[in-house]
Amino acid sequence: MEHVFILIAILLASLFFSKSAEAGDLLPPKTPKPSSDEVLKILKNGNKRFYTGKSIYPNTDTARMLLANSENQKEHAYATIVSCSDSRVPVELILDAGIMDIFVVRIAGNICHNNEIGTIEYGLTYVHTPLLVILGHTQCGAITAVTHALQGKEQKLAKNIPHLVDNIIPPVKKTFERHPDLSGEEIIPYAIEENIWHVIETVFMRSPVVRHFVADGKVKVVGAMYDLATGKIEWFPFDKTDEILAKVEASPDKEAEAFAS
Ligand SMILES: [Zn+2]
Repeated sequence: MEHVFILIAILLASLFFSKSAEAGDLLPPKTPKPSSDEVLKILKNGNKRFYTGKSIYPNTDTARMLLANSENQKEHAYATIVSCSDSRVPVELILDAGIMDIFVVRIAGNICHNNEIGTIEYGLTYVHTPLLVILGHTQCGAITAVTHALQGKEQKLAKNIPHLVDNIIPPVKKTFERHPDLSGEEIIPYAIEENIWHVIETVFMRSPVVRHFVADGKVKVVGAMYDLATGKIEWFPFDKTDEILAKVEASPDKEAEAFAS
């Protein structure tokens, strides 16, 4: 199994990232990374320092900046995080993390399509992060806009926004089905959470590489929700991720090819 994965990783390297990643990046870091559970603890502690007003702003000085110029990030960065672009969710700040600590994908609605999933695969394969976080947030404007559109409050969208919206419609529709009793703004928090689970399912469906890392115990995937009102992140249980992975593994529609043809 191990050699199959290495082969996949090498092919990914040559096909996708030949200019940005060296073959040496595929080797494990010289200093072993913390485990997935230990990384989760690091993130929880960082967020706690933030929301209690005790941030220490680690790894933000000139020495760290220079270290980032001379060392490979795979020796240091410990988590890959997908978050919304919302200016109210500055990822490093809310986790009290610094330079070369976290590998971040930011996109409206924290959705995952081709480029985002490719970036995640890069984070796991080359930056060797043992934890992948899909981080949603309360009051997400992207999810709110799609919910309003599906409630009939249509508005004209700028040229490229519909592509973004397409990824958010399925989880919002599912939320309507699951909560027929809710209407108006009440349903939005549920849609925001459903979107997190939908993103995790999409990543598993589309990425055999991510599935492989998780099945091998090298990576854990966690859903989380940042609360704008308190600064606190709610970390969802790994059990739910495991359920989604099992569902995807049983699906005949999952992507089977780990590398581009
Ligand atoms: Zn948002």
